[in-house]
Amino acid sequence: MKILLIGPPGVGKGTQSKLICEFYGLSHISTGDILRKHIDRCTNIGRVINRFDINNGKFVPDKLINDLIKQMNIEGLFKKSYLLDGYPRTLNQAEFYVNKILDKLSKYIVIYLNASREYILDRISQRRICSGCGNVYNLKNVSPKNSGICDECGKSLIQRLDDRIDVFNGRLEIYDKMTLDVIKYFMSLNVLFEVDASREINDVFGNIKNIIGEYYDLY
Ligand code: AMP
Repeated sequence: MKILLIGPPGVGKGTQSKLICEFYGLSHISTGDILRKHIDRCTNIGRVINRFDINNGKFVPDKLINDLIKQMNIEGLFKKSYLLDGYPRTLNQAEFYVNKILDKLSKYIVIYLNASREYILDRISQRRICSGCGNVYNLKNVSPKNSGICDECGKSLIQRLDDRIDVFNGRLEIYDKMTLDVIKYFMSLNVLFEVDASREINDVFGNIKNIIGEYYDLY
């Protein structure tokens, strides 16, 4: 099973990724997490990534991200079933993935989570992450047991820099400019399924499960 999850920032990709990966036993590959880890660990790539100001939503160059994906492919990370979250984000990345990474016999599916801008902006203002383990909360519907404290590791919850409203609007703009072509591309390949992400978390997940189940003949 090879699932690509795409959609605007703040639409709930992280939450749904977690549910999908747990349910189907997939490995969760998030390019955003990988880039942030490189920065935190001050690796050589991390120092390069730092130049692109990813906390302000600017994309890293296609070559850099495609090279990372290529390296992960060489290491065998794409041999198992997986869910890719945050990649591809541009047409160049989508074509690279389909032509250079994907095994021609593999059946893959693109789940496109979408919602109105009002919904997304409301959701993002409520999003908090743990400063320790990175666990994600939403003060409205996935709130921690103790206010401001992570259930998993007890560290404090913070707002991601790139979730601040001024920065976030910029991220949405970049997304619109770059990712529309990705959606059109996968639509033309008949592998893209759009899901309304503004409903209850479990309804959205139920819808995704139905689409995946039908696509992979799991019934
Ligand atoms: P995310 O956690 O998926 O929102 O990613 C955080 C940031 O990492 C994004 O705003 C981009 O700056 C960068 N990033 C993640 N994935 C990609 C990608 N596929 N292409 C370019 N930049 C990316």
